[in-house]
Formats: sequence, structure tokens, C-alpha cells
Amino acid sequence: MYLYNSATHKKEKFQTHTPGRVEMYTCGPTVYHYAHIGNLRSYIMEDALEKFLRYEGYDVNRVMNITDVGHLASDADTGEDKMLKGAKRENKSVMDIAKFYTDAFFDDCAKLNIKTPDVVQPATGLIGEFIKVVSRLIEKGSAYVAGGNVYFDTSTLDRYYVFNDHDQEDLAVGVREGVEEDANKRNKNDFVLWFTKSKFEDQALKWDSPWGVGYPGWHIECSCISMKYNGEYLDLHCGGVDNAFPHHTNEIAQSEAYLGHPWCAQWFHVHHLNTNSGKMSKSKGEFLTVSLLEEKGYDPLAYRFFCLQSHYRKGLVFSWENLDNAAGAYNKLIKRVAALRDGDGEIDEAAAAQFKEKFLTQVGNDLNTSMGVTCLYDVLKAPVNDATKRAVLADFDQVLSLSLLDRAAALREKMVELQPKSTGMVLDSKIAGDVYLVRHEGEPDPEISKLVLQRGEAKQAKNFAEADQIRDKLKARGIEVTDVPGGAVWKRV
Ligand code: AMP
Ligand code: ZN
Repeated sequence: MYLYNSATHKKEKFQTHTPGRVEMYTCGPTVYHYAHIGNLRSYIMEDALEKFLRYEGYDVNRVMNITDVGHLASDADTGEDKMLKGAKRENKSVMDIAKFYTDAFFDDCAKLNIKTPDVVQPATGLIGEFIKVVSRLIEKGSAYVAGGNVYFDTSTLDRYYVFNDHDQEDLAVGVREGVEEDANKRNKNDFVLWFTKSKFEDQALKWDSPWGVGYPGWHIECSCISMKYNGEYLDLHCGGVDNAFPHHTNEIAQSEAYLGHPWCAQWFHVHHLNTNSGKMSKSKGEFLTVSLLEEKGYDPLAYRFFCLQSHYRKGLVFSWENLDNAAGAYNKLIKRVAALRDGDGEIDEAAAAQFKEKFLTQVGNDLNTSMGVTCLYDVLKAPVNDATKRAVLADFDQVLSLSLLDRAAALREKMVELQPKSTGMVLDSKIAGDVYLVRHEGEPDPEISKLVLQRGEAKQAKNFAEADQIRDKLKARGIEVTDVPGGAVWKRV
């Protein structure tokens, strides 16, 4: 595939250190609160990327950290520890908070069909490894101890700002909130590898170290976790665009200083989900969650569909109206899939291969998921039998993960359930791919059912004058028609 690489600022042919194998790392959530749907946009797009690489035939090893220590309110190592803030807010221990929100994160991921990475490592589970790497950085002269803390010395690097094509606004995130000069730093960009002189007397989690009792900085966890589970050469590193600086910049600095050779070849950054008032953010406290979408009656997969319809390198504006449009389109898509007949002849393998080739090219162009969605509609419209359509849709859904066939089967079942048990006759019509069912209460009358079906067909064809005429005709015969999802029910009044 071709993928934009934020480290080279170019779209490049995707390559791996070991042919056929992708070592992939993802910055995981800071578990002091629920993930908001902005965070989840990043994880949805990263999930689609992982699945596309697998679809292309790569063997992918995906690793993710869980940040349960060390992430301060400002990414520039100032402010309160986010985990401590969460624990105080809920009057619980830091570990209870971490467990609760880690579980909540993976519950949300499951609802959005986001696959759990091959390795998930909470930062608190690998402290010994962090100490080993920090010690080596000091030995190599890349880090120094000052005022009780250990700092990375950015003046030892040839190049520090690697992701300089991001907006000033993106880059400013790390230094915007609560800018506070740290007099221990030799250079403005130096960052903390290990804190002992904590500003917080009540810091809940502390570990013994050669530099005193303390805790790790946020950046070191991702370098160490990746080097442990992905090895010395990382192929692909992912995160939201706000992670590019200072977090990813600092990860590169310390990993390459430790390893003594280039570390990660490709960097994938997902741009933000924004609301009208700016970036959706956890620290602002006002954000939308998957549970809230569910409470409001949205299928979480409609949100996934919404995300897939836009490109990951563009900001995405969330509004209820935009989500409604996506949900409407998703429901319609499912209806069209539900209208495909099961076991309708042999699969046309040649046609299926052609569809697949197009999908690979389209989505393989910098993860163009919206073109992937367009490919679904192309299949639905194509002059091939339903068996071929179902097979190709299922194939594409390995990447898009919209549960197309499962949701369609559930819809069909729901439509059958809606049928009154007492009477058997159901008329079934298919227009523009949608199934339209006519049912009745009381004694059957084929002539009336046929009229109701004609009215439904007229409505689906947006021929409203004709639909109204038929309704009037039925009314004159004492028949009341009620529209229900996927059809209509009639009864005598
Ligand atoms: P956090 O839990 O704050 O560490 O963030 C988890 C992931 O979500 C990181 O990769 C962030 O870069 C990403 N992220 C944060 N806010 C947004 C947003 N509004 N839109 C998209 N991704 C975001
Ligand atoms: Zn990270």
C-alpha cells in the first residue's frame, strides 16, 4: 500500500524491515476517564489500517500500551498526574481507576469492532525495563540527573523536530497548558525520563530506582514497551496527531539514542475529531462517549461508518446532524444487504477478484476508507448475482468491520418477528434493494394487501401523489395503513 509518512512528509510505498511482517505500535489510552469518541476515531482508523495490512497478506504484530502512570496534565511534564486527578475525582485508588477505565476502553472498542492488539501492556507492569533503559541513556551521555529527576538531553541529538509539517496548533498542544519553567532542564526541550522530586507529595504509585523513589515519565513507556515486544526495528507507529509533539518526538529521541540506529520507519497520525468549539478533549471534561451514543439510540457501528467516510488526515467535525446522516446511510446500507438473497447461485469468482483488486488499490492509496465504502455500493449496484455480492461484501468487511452480514441477518429476523402470528400472508417487494413487507391485522384480503404494496412501491419511488391516492382509496374502503420499519401494516377500522 501507499501510506503518508509523517516522518518524511511524503506518501510512500509501505515497506517493512522483515518482508511480510509488520511490527506495529499504537499509543494506548490514558485510563483516568472514559475514552471519548475523538480518541476512538484514532483507534478506529488504526484498526482499519491494521486490518488492511492483514488483508494485503502481512503478518502483523500490534502492540499497545496502557498509560496508567506518568502522564501529566500537560504533555510538557507539568501539571498534575492525570491518573491521580481521576482517582481524586472518584475517590478511588489509582489502580482501581486504571482497571475500571481500561475495561471500559476495551468494551467500547468491542462495540466499535476494534480488534484488541496482540500485546496490551500497562505501563506499571514494566517499570524494571524503564529503569534499565534510563540507566543506559545516562551511561551513554544522553541523559542527566538534575534536582533529583532524570532528564533526556536533547542537545545531544542531530535533529529534534521531526514532525514539523503539523499545524502550529497541533504542536502547541504539548506546551500550551500551564507552561511552567523547569529550572533543572539544561535545554528548553529536555524532558523527564524519571521523576523523583515529585511535585505531588500524594503521588500514589512510586517505585525504587537508582535515582530514588519515583515514577517514570510518560514518553519512556512507549519506547520501552515497543522495544520489548516489537524488537529494535519498528515498522509503523500510530497515534493521534496531538501525540506527534512532544510525545512521539521524544520517543524517537530516546529510542534512537538507546539503540544507536534508526528506530521507526513509518509514522501514522490521525487528525482530530472536532466539535464546533474545537478539539474534543478528555481534560476539558465535556466529551461524548460510546455509551452516550447508545443511550441516544445510535448503533456504535454507525459512528464507525461515520469515521470511515472521511480521510484520517483531515480533521472531522462532529455534529448530531452529521452523525444522523451517517446513521441513516448505514441503516440503508444494511437494508440493501438484507435484501440480498442467501444461496442465490454460484459465486462469480472472476467478478469477485476484480472487485477485490479495485478495493486493494483504492483503500491502499493512503488508507482511503471512504473509497472502501464506495466499493461496497459499487458491489451492490453491479450486475452480478446476490451470492457474489454477499461474498465480496463479507470480504471487504474484514477491513471495514461494519458487521454488514450480521446486522443484515438481524434486520431480517426483526422483520419476520414484526409479522402478526395469527395471519400468514405477507407480501414482499424489492425496490432499489430495499425489502418492503406488507402485513395485516385481522382477516386477510389479497386485493387490499396488493394495494398497500403498490402504495409502498410508489413511496419508495418517491411518487408521493400516487401513494396518497392509493391511501385515500384504501381509506374509502375503511382500511387504515400504518408505516412500520421496512414496510406497512393494514387493518380494518
Ligand atoms: P489519551 O487517552 O489522551 O492518551 O489519547 C488516546 C489517543 O487519542 C491518542 O492517540 C490521542 O492522540 C488521540 N486523541 C486525543 N484527542 C483526540 C481527538 N479529538 N480526535 C482524535 N484523536 C484524539
Ligand atoms: Zn505513546
